[in-house]
Amino acid sequence: MPDPALVVLIGAAGSGKSTFAATWNPSQVLELDAFRAMVSDEAGDQQATADAVAAMRTVLEARLTRKKTTVIDSTNCERAVRAGLVQAARRHGVPTVAVLMGTPVSLCVIRQTARTPGRAVPADTVRAQHTAATAAFPGLRGEGFDHVVFADQLHRLEPLLQRASD
Ligand code: ATP
Ligand code: MG
Repeated sequence: MPDPALVVLIGAAGSGKSTFAATWNPSQVLELDAFRAMVSDEAGDQQATADAVAAMRTVLEARLTRKKTTVIDSTNCERAVRAGLVQAARRHGVPTVAVLMGTPVSLCVIRQTARTPGRAVPADTVRAQHTAATAAFPGLRGEGFDHVVFADQLHRLEPLLQRASD
C-alpha cells in the first residue's frame, strides 16, 4: 500500500471494517461511529450523522494537509460519499486505496445479533449495504481510486479465532 494513502474501507455493517482498521495505528483511523459518539454520546444515533460527517471531514482535511495516511472506517457504500473522499485526497495529492470487505452478507447479518440493541443494524439495511458495496466494486477504478483491494480472506480467520478462544 502507498504511504501516505487515503484508505477507504467499503462494506456493510458487520463486515469487519473496524476489526481490520484496528491493524493501523488508532490515530490513523477515522471511524464515523466514533464521531457520532463524540457529537451525540451515541455511536448509533443516525440523527447525528450530518454533524459527525462534518467533524470527520475537518479532521480528514487536517490530516491530508499533513500527508498523513488515514483510514476511513464507515460503510462508504454510497458513490457520492466515495466521490467526496477521492476529491479530498486528490486536492492534496494523496493516493487513494479502496478496500472492499468481501465478507458474506449472511455473516454480516448474523454478527448483528451479537450486538447491543443500539448498535445492531436491521437485516434489511445490512443487505442493502452489502448489495451496494458489491455492485460498486467493478467501478471503483473508474471512480478515481488509484488502488482497489478485495479483502476476501479476512472473515476466514473467524473459525480459527473462535477455536482458539474455546
Ligand atoms: P459497522 O459498520 O457496524 O461498524 P464493521 O464493519 O466495523 O461494522 P466489525 O465491528 O469490525 O464490523 O465486526 C463485526 C463483528 O465481527 C465483531 O464482533 C468482530 O469481532 C467480528 N469480526 C470482524 N472481522 C473478523 C475476523 N476477521 N475474524 C473474526 N471476527 C471478526
Ligand atoms: Mg465498525
